[in-house]
Amino acid sequence: MGILRIAFYHQIHMISPIISLSHSLMTDSNLAIANLLFPNPSYTLEELENIYPNRTVSIVTRVSPSPTGFLHIGTVYTALLSERLAHLNGGVFYLRNEDTDDKREIENAASTIVNGIQKFGITIDEGAIGPDGSDIGKYGPYTQSKRGPIYQSYVRDMIARGMAYPCFLDEAETTTIRAEQTVSGQPTGIYGSYSPWRVATLEEVQGAIVAGKKYVVRLRSHGNPSKRVKLVDEIRGEIEMQDNFMDTVLLKQTGIPTYHLAHVVDDHLMRTTHVTRGDEWLPSYPLHVQLTEALGFTLPQYIHISPLMKTDGGGKRKLSKRKDPEANVEYFFEQGYIIEALIDYMLGIMDSRYEAWRLENPTADYRSYPLTTEKLPLSGALFDITKLDSIANNFLTKLSTEELQSQGLEWARKYDKELAKLMEVYLDLTYRALDIERHTEKDPRRFTKFSDLRGQLQFFYTETFETMKNAAPALPECITPEVRQAFVEDYMKSYDPAMEREEWFEQLKNLAHMHKFARTGEEWKTGEYLGKVGDIAMMLRLLLCASTKTPDLCYTMKVLGKEVMEKRLWE
Ligand code: GLU
Repeated sequence: MGILRIAFYHQIHMISPIISLSHSLMTDSNLAIANLLFPNPSYTLEELENIYPNRTVSIVTRVSPSPTGFLHIGTVYTALLSERLAHLNGGVFYLRNEDTDDKREIENAASTIVNGIQKFGITIDEGAIGPDGSDIGKYGPYTQSKRGPIYQSYVRDMIARGMAYPCFLDEAETTTIRAEQTVSGQPTGIYGSYSPWRVATLEEVQGAIVAGKKYVVRLRSHGNPSKRVKLVDEIRGEIEMQDNFMDTVLLKQTGIPTYHLAHVVDDHLMRTTHVTRGDEWLPSYPLHVQLTEALGFTLPQYIHISPLMKTDGGGKRKLSKRKDPEANVEYFFEQGYIIEALIDYMLGIMDSRYEAWRLENPTADYRSYPLTTEKLPLSGALFDITKLDSIANNFLTKLSTEELQSQGLEWARKYDKELAKLMEVYLDLTYRALDIERHTEKDPRRFTKFSDLRGQLQFFYTETFETMKNAAPALPECITPEVRQAFVEDYMKSYDPAMEREEWFEQLKNLAHMHKFARTGEEWKTGEYLGKVGDIAMMLRLLLCASTKTPDLCYTMKVLGKEVMEKRLWE
């Protein structure tokens, strides 16, 4: 349905793919400026059309992150959506590395993104995804910094046709123009009569080049500030926005393209049919439409996705890379969230019907869900960790104890090496400790993520128990030497690990009757006998596990075994 809907918009609303080149002005002077700046273009535009032919599939989507050394959960969300839309409809999903922001580039950042997305099991068909970041696919290079000659060929053509021009304004001049505009209440920026180089002659351009001045290339916009343009967004339908009239920079002084130019060129040549991107790009949509027209391309369908948000104070705000650890997917890997839970959680945000489908199909592969864009949220969706936890908890509860143990060990090998070692040394003990009450009627749902393993296992290993004991607060006063003696002599002698829960409980009750163990208020103290079996159980927890929280005590004791218990009760 989603794609049908997309096709529908394509037919009814899409901006005409017939190119309006009415502003195109191929004069001798424009051609000469183009030749002066780009004397030896690597490609003709015809050649580029042949190198990147139309594809045979009907849908091509992409994710095109900028390599910042960090994989944002929002990028995974966009990748998942784009991949689903492509693969549910026999299309292609590719990854493009948008590394045109020279200041932001960080080493290995591209592989962090590719590896992270692949870790989610999201299949990327094309991109710099081969060994050592080599390209897979016929529409590459998939890294923008390797596509310089391609962008330059288009920029050269735009200059020759009068659709772009070199601008030699320096920073001081730009600042003066902006100040003037501010004083006169005009929109700030380089456009119309505020752009002296828009009307420069060949001689003036030549002069500036000879003088060694640096230049950027700007779009020669023919937009009208008082005009409203109607655009179509897949999830927002028809939207009206102010026309772009800014002579936006297309090529920076370094010769590197801006996002605006690079994405329009790449999405054309890579034959993208659906551009899924964050809605922070919505304000530049009119510019991108203008650019697409100026270049003579067919406009792809745009899907502007609202960002993932979190509650902060009373309000909502975008997940922030700086403030929120959960903005970085590494947080979820470190915490040991099961990937399927994260995927299910994200699909639930994308489509409110997904949760009901999952309830009906608890074991089905999420890939069989017919995801569409119909229910994509229009305003920022809340990234709700409590909700994620409940989904993650369901997934871990469904695992067999063997799976929990092996997947948990795999996680621990990377994120909790000490625990991994102990899990490997005490394989059987670990299995029995993890198995406590799993899949019973009580279903204690002890595990939400693999990082919960430590808390649930640490009292079973002598090594970690000792550490816990040393760090624990002093034992309450009520645990006197007499109490310890009673545990070891009266209790342990008759304790049999084979006892079932009821018998175990009766025995504990008898012990409570025999001895004056009591609690006054919150404090543990020797004192008047209150006959609470819970008090006895708590004392045992503290002595046996150095913690007030343990899995079911009866089974915890069975797993610990008599020998270990006797030792811990005395020491
Ligand atoms: N490289 C852009 C960014 O990181 C992506 C925008 C797009 O998908 O076109 O915001």
